[in-house]
This record gives sequence, structure tokens and C-alpha cells, in this order.
Amino acid sequence: SLVTRFAPSPTGYLHVGGARTALYSWLYSKKMGGKFVLRIEDTDLERSTQASVDAILQGMEWLGLDWDDGPYYQTKRFDLYKEVIQQLLDAGKAYKCFCSIEELDQMREAQMAAGEKPRYNGMWRDRTDHPANQPYVIRFKNPQAGTVVIDDMIKGRIEIANKELDDLIIARTDGSPTYNLTVVVDDWKMGITHVIRGDDHVNNTPRQMNILAALGADIPHYAHVPMILGDDGKRLSKRHGAVGVMQYRDNGFLPEALLNYLVRLGWSHGDQEIFSKEELVSLFDLKNCNRAPSAFNTEKLIWLNQHYMKTLPAERVATELQWHLDAQKLDTSNGPAITDVITVQADRVKTLKEMVEVSRYFYADFAEFEANAAKKHLRPVAAEPLKLAQQKLAALSEWTAESIQQAIHATAEELELGMGKVGMPLRVAVTGGGNSPSLDQTLLLVGQARSLSRLAMALE
Ligand code: GLU
Repeated sequence: SLVTRFAPSPTGYLHVGGARTALYSWLYSKKMGGKFVLRIEDTDLERSTQASVDAILQGMEWLGLDWDDGPYYQTKRFDLYKEVIQQLLDAGKAYKCFCSIEELDQMREAQMAAGEKPRYNGMWRDRTDHPANQPYVIRFKNPQAGTVVIDDMIKGRIEIANKELDDLIIARTDGSPTYNLTVVVDDWKMGITHVIRGDDHVNNTPRQMNILAALGADIPHYAHVPMILGDDGKRLSKRHGAVGVMQYRDNGFLPEALLNYLVRLGWSHGDQEIFSKEELVSLFDLKNCNRAPSAFNTEKLIWLNQHYMKTLPAERVATELQWHLDAQKLDTSNGPAITDVITVQADRVKTLKEMVEVSRYFYADFAEFEANAAKKHLRPVAAEPLKLAQQKLAALSEWTAESIQQAIHATAEELELGMGKVGMPLRVAVTGGGNSPSLDQTLLLVGQARSLSRLAMALE
């Protein structure tokens, strides 16, 4: 059966490129009724950290990319890699190379002087006069003739002549396995049938296929996903702003929006833009992935975020919003239900972070009115409409959108003022600023007691 994997190196947070690769692997396994394996490639001990592992797992969980198997850690599989290296040595498919660094430097210089591409020349490939007590690396005996063909599921057919590939080091002088060896052993032993990964690995693929063939392993299908570019056409990096998945959470995006955005960044289904997870699982296919790189477009991500803030059940948005409320230290225990705030604010903001920023007055009192709004609408003191509105609002025995609306209307009528002359001072008085949802909804959620005390403060 089909098995895909995501194999991040824990040398930083989960970035959007990695997340998209993980998403494609996840979707493909789900679509095909297969399995999705998570493998942490932590053999680079200098650069790998537990904090990065945690950040990657957190990012996957936040996006809802669950794995069926793992996480496996390569550092816990060294015995297996050593066994396989020995197996290759015993079969004459790998050999010890005793070249010193000086010899390798000389080799490289001579090749460059002759205008050749520097590469290991295979000088220990067939030698048996092995020196004693001298350090060595182990190299894979790459076939010298023939062509490796990658039938890439995204990029199409790619051919590489074996004579372009030199004998790769598979074990260092300390016996530790190198990157290409560990990937191969794991893809083999984990029964990976489809390797979906970034196209920065496409150069490793023919080498990995040769090692797999030497081991008698099945060669998986490969799908190399083109990279993501920033708005300047260069590879997406920190220079372009947020690249970590959790940074998008911090900036106020919903995982549903980021997921929908990432899947469309490099894959399409007609001109459909919005996809539920269920739809993606049934519609996704590697065949419809772009061969060309895609450019990250923050405006579109914002558009999707707005769509999901408005259309997801408020209870669902509330769980994400709660994180931002906590981050901005806003206590919601004495105020309206946050689902009600979501309902009135969802189409007024771009992000959840912004939603909290513009919703403070529902939960926290303020000491001052926003200077500009106050100047425009409260001063010269709009005392008359505010006083009458205060009276009428105080007299309401039922605090509903309708009763509030009627009180405001009646105030405007009695004073023969336009609605704006009553509404705006009222809005500034109750919310502290000039921006809020409709007045009846705003006052309804702020509550009667709080609205009245703020009106009193405005009239001081
Ligand atoms: N660990 C590699 C990376 O993070 C991925 C290797 C692979 O997918 O084969 O780039």
C-alpha cells in the first residue's frame, strides 16, 4: 500500500515551504488511502535542536497534519545504518577510501587546472592494499555506465548519466552515516512508496536511486515540488517577512486559511480557490501540481483568512481567537461571549490579532477617549444627545438590539438631529473610538451597565 513521508531536518522552525511539502504528502496519502510517516532527520548534531523538533511538531499539529507513523528520529537508528553500510561493503558495493584531505585538495586543483569539474576520481575503488591504522571514509561504488531515469510525478522525466556521479561518501571517518545514506535506508526500511519533497533535493535523487538499487530495494516514486518565491522573485526567506508557520498563527491567521493558501500555492483545480479539507483529500493530485515555482502573495492569504473568519463556525474561530486574547492579556470573563464578538467583527478585520485589538472595549474599560474621535464627535460636547440617549438607554428594561435601536432613534427624533449626530458621539462614548460594528450590536455586547457608565464618563 501507499506510504508517503515528511522528513524535516530540525534546524529551525517549520517554514511555509516545508509545511506545503508536508501538506502534499499528507493529502496524497489520505487521498490514496495510504499511510503518512513523520521522520525527523536529526543527524546533523551541530544544527539540530530539540526546540526545532518541538516547533515542527507544533506547526504540524496546528495545521492538522497528523501522521500515522512516527515520529522516527534518525539519531536513534545508527545501528541500522551501520548494518546497511557493512552490507554494502560485504557485497563489494562500497569501499574504503583512505585519501587524505591533502590528496583530495590536490585532486581538485589538478581537475580545475585542466578545466574539469572537480570530483572524486575513484582512486581507492578497486584497491586492496589497505593501509593499517589509517582513517578512512566509506564510499558507494556508483555505477560507471548507464543512465538514471527519474520519472518525476511533477517535473516529468529527468535523465542523469552515471558518469556525472562520483562515488559518494556514505560513512565518515568516525563511522557516522551521511545524509544520503540515512535517507535511503529509511525510505527503504519504512516502505516509502512516494517521496514528495522540495526540488532542492532533485540532485540527490539519482544517487539515492543507485544506492537503493544496490540494496535490492524497490525504488519509490518521486515528486519534486518547486520552491516558493518571495514577491521579488527570489527564494522565499526571512528577508521577505514571516516564513515560520507559527509566525502566521502569531500574526493572526487561521490554520484553515494558511492550509488553503499553501495548497493552492503550486496546485490547482480549475479556478476554484476555496477548499475544505475533505474536498482537498478527494481532489488533490500530484498531476495538477505546477512545474514552475510559485510566488507568495500575502494579500491572497489575507483574503482567505477573512473568508474563513466569516464562514467557519464561530466556536471554531473562538478556539484560535482565545490564544490571541491570552497573548494580548485580555480577560474575557466579564464581558460578552467571544463567539458573539466574532460574529460582529469577522468581516471588519483582516486577522484574529487585529480582531482582539479592535475588540478591547468589550472587555476592558478605558481611561481616555481616542483623541481624534473625541475631538470630532464629543467636543464641543455633544452633551444634549448623549444625555437624552443616556436617559432612554437607562430606562430600558430589556437590553436587546431592537430596544437599543429604538432608544437611539427616539433620541434623534426628539432632538430633530440626524442619526449621525447621535450615533457617532454615542459610539465614541461607549467604545472610546470612532470604529465599531453597528451601534445596536455594539451596545448590546458591551452591556447596559457598562454602556451607561461610559456615557457618564463622556458627560463628565
Ligand atoms: N531532511 C531534508 C530536508 O529537511 C528532507 C530530505 C528528504 O525529504 O528526502 O530538507
